[in-house]
Amino acid sequence: MTTAIEKQFWFVVGSQHLYGEEALAEVKANAQKMTDALNQSGLLPYPLVLQDLAVSADKITSIMKEVNYRDEVAGIITWMHTFSPAKMWIRGTKMLQKPLLHLATQYNESIPWATIDMDFMNLNQAAHGDREYGFINARLNKQNKVVVGYWERPEVQQQIADWMDVAVAYNESFGIKVARFGDNMRNVGVTEGDKVEAQIQFGWTVDYYGIGDLVEYVNAVTEPEIDQLMAEYAELYEFDYGSNSQESWEASVRVQAGYEIAIKRFLDEKGYSAFTSNFEDLHGMKQLPGLAVQRLMAQGYGFAGEGDWKTAALDRLMKIMSHNQNTGFMEDYTYEMAAGQEAILQSHMLEVDPSLASSKPKVVVSPLGIGDREDPARLVFDGKAGDGVVVSMMDHGTHYKLLINEVTAFEPTEPAPHLPVARVLWTVKPNFQDGIKAWIENGGGHHTVVSLNLTTDQIVSYAKLVNLEYVVIK
Ligand code: MN
Repeated sequence: MTTAIEKQFWFVVGSQHLYGEEALAEVKANAQKMTDALNQSGLLPYPLVLQDLAVSADKITSIMKEVNYRDEVAGIITWMHTFSPAKMWIRGTKMLQKPLLHLATQYNESIPWATIDMDFMNLNQAAHGDREYGFINARLNKQNKVVVGYWERPEVQQQIADWMDVAVAYNESFGIKVARFGDNMRNVGVTEGDKVEAQIQFGWTVDYYGIGDLVEYVNAVTEPEIDQLMAEYAELYEFDYGSNSQESWEASVRVQAGYEIAIKRFLDEKGYSAFTSNFEDLHGMKQLPGLAVQRLMAQGYGFAGEGDWKTAALDRLMKIMSHNQNTGFMEDYTYEMAAGQEAILQSHMLEVDPSLASSKPKVVVSPLGIGDREDPARLVFDGKAGDGVVVSMMDHGTHYKLLINEVTAFEPTEPAPHLPVARVLWTVKPNFQDGIKAWIENGGGHHTVVSLNLTTDQIVSYAKLVNLEYVVIK
């Protein structure tokens, strides 16, 4: 499951015919130089392609129609080189169905006081054009992004890059398909939700499968296929037999290797990019998938436990947005409450995403402590340090709501020799008491997706695009 997606963005430069053909030729030449420089910056994750100048309502409308129907175009970036009367933009902007970034910049960085005349003023009037154009976007409630600053500056280019990742995730959101192996965990509230509304609002397809459908795939996996995967594990991970005999340890890990192959085959054949499991629903399975799930998360599949399809889809979405870097499913577990050291220990019963690992993971076989299956293998590691966001989506009955908390993850200093699961530690913003209180008061879930690569601004940009209520705790 790849998170490398082939997309491009169109660069649409606003002007009008009032200034004559010579001025328009200069606008076009400057726009081409800007496009080339942005593409060569090395910061943009997707290419920018310059389009014909937006000089009439018909031209603008025709560009927007093309943007809508071309799958390879993830969104548009607009720039007002000159004044561009914005009634021309109404029809096209209204029909635009993809993300829009208004780049408030100017070709020249400084005002050339020694030579400035009215020709220069007419040609370089972004400050004037930005306001006319911005008014129409605001009036149309486009929820577009506005980036302000000189186009050659890396911090401006980085804002464009971050938005491109959001725009691609938004486009891909409509193709996210979640396979649910079993239903939600019994009696749990926050993992429930309206699947029809999720498909209408976010584009997520959420399908149920009985665990027997997966067991068929598990039974079809061959021993040589498992041998091959075991060799890959030996390359990537430390093998920790613990108190197990090597023979029983290997037998247990081989079960998980079979699950990895089976689940991947199932998802790929049927076009799913995310999935859920439930430890209460494992008829015909010897173990709860643990190592298998961790391996698939590292490959870019979205996942959440206990049938939590909302978090699984959100995980896939944020993996696309972050290029699958330092982003994964998480669960709040245990507080550290000692004064001055307050933190939250994050983990799950098995399924912690190795994209967050700071150390070489160990393959450990240990009892689960929940349910009635054999001891499952899992990857055990410590999480990376870094600033990031933790995100949870809840169905509040009348609407979905997104909760975003800024966190600072840090590497644990104390060993935990008896803890047979991966662990991530973080502090929450603005502080332990207020951050946790706000999370609980807003009804934030215990299942989350954390990313040490994404920003609050990116998550908020996505929420706006899908008209999703959000609360930021920072
Ligand atoms: Mn859980």
